[in-house]
Amino acid sequence: MSGILDVLIVGGGPAGVAAAYLCHKSGLSYLVIEQGKAIFQGIANTYPEGKNVYASRPKESPEPFMVDELKPPDKPVSVEKYIQYVHHFVQHENLAVKTEVDFEDIVDARDHLVVKTNTGPIKARKVLLAFGSSIPKELSVYGDAKMVAKSVDDPKKYLGVRVLVIGGGNTAADVLISILKEKRQANDTQPVYWAHISEKFDVNKETAQRLGEEILLGGNIRLLPGATPRIGEVDESGVDRLIIRINEYKQTDGIEIYNSMNFPMKNVIACIGSQGPLPIFDKVGIQTITCAEGVCSIAKEGDRLILLTADFESTRRGVYVIGGAISPSYMRISGGSISEEKHPNLIYTAINDAHHAVEAIVKKLGK
Ligand SMILES: Cc1cc2nc3c(=O)[nH]c(=O)nc-3n(C[C@H](O)[C@H](O)[C@H](O)COP(=O)(O)OP(=O)(O)OC[C@H]3O[C@@H](n4cnc5c(N)ncnc54)[C@H](O)[C@@H]3O)c2cc1C
Repeated sequence: MSGILDVLIVGGGPAGVAAAYLCHKSGLSYLVIEQGKAIFQGIANTYPEGKNVYASRPKESPEPFMVDELKPPDKPVSVEKYIQYVHHFVQHENLAVKTEVDFEDIVDARDHLVVKTNTGPIKARKVLLAFGSSIPKELSVYGDAKMVAKSVDDPKKYLGVRVLVIGGGNTAADVLISILKEKRQANDTQPVYWAHISEKFDVNKETAQRLGEEILLGGNIRLLPGATPRIGEVDESGVDRLIIRINEYKQTDGIEIYNSMNFPMKNVIACIGSQGPLPIFDKVGIQTITCAEGVCSIAKEGDRLILLTADFESTRRGVYVIGGAISPSYMRISGGSISEEKHPNLIYTAINDAHHAVEAIVKKLGK
């Protein structure tokens, strides 16, 4: 065993899991790395509770679902049921998945690629990027804030401690509500601090009502409007900490006085929104094209679209990009010409992209 995988798959959503299953069936060595606690974390984080999952298929697409095993049922089921089914499937097929691994970068080696992650490098001949369309933003502070969570899967973890939730929107409010509820039920009076960089929090009426109810039922919440996360550091006991400036007073003579709070990062959750995958494409050195006037019909003028072959290989050799990460359209290189290709963000497209990419990889690797 050379220690070099045939394929490293980044992201355990429909695209990544389909790719893993197809690699497994084709006898390729592979591994899925998933940032979350479990596969389908992206879906678990973004679908509202109880939402039905539809086996939608674009009208103009002639292909069936190419991995029938992962197709949502024709009679829609709740997202919870679909996720549970996929978890069983992954377990049953014994697919190789490593969770809580964050993709960072790709570097070239002589005859393979080295994928850098927060838990160390992984070598692979081909890399399939399947990280979806919604990449949680990182806190930008001096130092490192990678230990800060971006969502909450078990609010019980925060019992008995003071918690800091950062972000002024509905996602942050939902996190706050889940922790307040858990603390209330456990008679835990430790407060939850809610910090936002601007002076005004911005949540919809329904979320505000649920939050209001938690506060009236005894939720101990402390608002920190106008607070700025500043520094990520490791203290003398080796604990990762986040320093957040909660107010500042500028004196006329140029001196600034400010107050800060300092939280262990394990007690901090930052819900500061998500961004598209462009910053990652730039970092990895994958080429994009800017839509000029009249060139694109789906993307807007000025939008940057990733360049891919019909097999979803990017301009970085050996690096493929599939699924929601390339929606709603990309630039397809085919027969010497380049044109915009529609790519709806659906489970169907994610699964079928995986089929085409893995088929091409099998051929290239001569397996
Ligand atoms: C509310 C909602 C409802 C929807 N309903 C439907 C529906 O009914 N039917 C349908 O067909 N489609 C639906 N969609 C769209 C569908 O969910 C997406 O098209 C599909 O999830 C895309 O799959 P993916 O694998 O490309 O990306 P994702 O499902 O986003 O999976 C990407 C995975 O990569 C992980 N990841 C991200 N960054 C990293 C990193 N740096 N390192 C490691 N892992 C990483 C994420 O945690 C995630 O698990 C819906 C979408 C939303 C938001």
